[in-house]
Amino acid sequence: MNFHILTLFPDMVMQGLGTSIIGRAVNNGLLSIEAVNIRDYAFNKHQSVDDYPYGGGAGMLMQAEPVYQAYEAIAEKVKKKPRVVYLSPQGATFSQTMAELAKEEELVLLCGHYEGIDERVLEEIVTDYVSIGDYVLTGGELPAMVMVDAISRLIPGVLHNDVSAEFESFQDDLLEYPQYSRPEEWHGKKVPPILLSGHHANIEKWRREQSIIRTKERRPDLLEKCMKSGVLDKKEMKFLQELLAKDEENA
Ligand code: SAM
Repeated sequence: MNFHILTLFPDMVMQGLGTSIIGRAVNNGLLSIEAVNIRDYAFNKHQSVDDYPYGGGAGMLMQAEPVYQAYEAIAEKVKKKPRVVYLSPQGATFSQTMAELAKEEELVLLCGHYEGIDERVLEEIVTDYVSIGDYVLTGGELPAMVMVDAISRLIPGVLHNDVSAEFESFQDDLLEYPQYSRPEEWHGKKVPPILLSGHHANIEKWRREQSIIRTKERRPDLLEKCMKSGVLDKKEMKFLQELLAKDEENA
């Protein structure tokens, strides 16, 4: 998979994505990340890429033409019209489901800055509008890095153990169960004995129940989805209903 990040701050994204698991995946050729400097496509001698918004208002706006030229350079290189995500607080909120974008061969991430980008170029090139949450950041670079990280983890081979990407929070609309490592006792707290039992089926059952408990406590909104989607089997549904009944008794 090839990521193309359109940005005014290429060093920021390349440095941020050059380490640890993502950096290693790039070195191993499992994915590529290029940052395209929009300023290289400025059409005036001062290399400026922003101007005042028509109609007045605070701040500057990134102009359409440099963004368009930078996009065209990528489209020519990859020989097709790639999917283009504009990182914007006005987009749909990024989620684990959207990380399925990992199936794209080429993905362009467009980072705005200042007050954003001239609407006309967005209309021409953007296929998806994505936000990383209901708050406003100074630029799209951090959101682009968040997306690259979350998507890359799903590319086969990026994580050493592909299973660890499978059984994680948000799968089946459940949060992951609590986990423990050595030592067996720390600050007087013992690892739950079931995890030391070696009985895989019981461990699996315990983990699933812990996921249900945790999701109920921390993300009741997710639990609602999970109950509707039918991913819980009969025994798990019964377990959950008993928990909810206890909550009602204690309320
Ligand atoms: N004036 C814009 C608005 O009110 O919608 C906000 C512009 S923001 C200061 C500058 C840039 O940061 C945006 O163009 C976008 O690329 C990025 N950005 C800010 N918050 C974001 C968020 N929550 N998710 C994704 N991108 C964001």
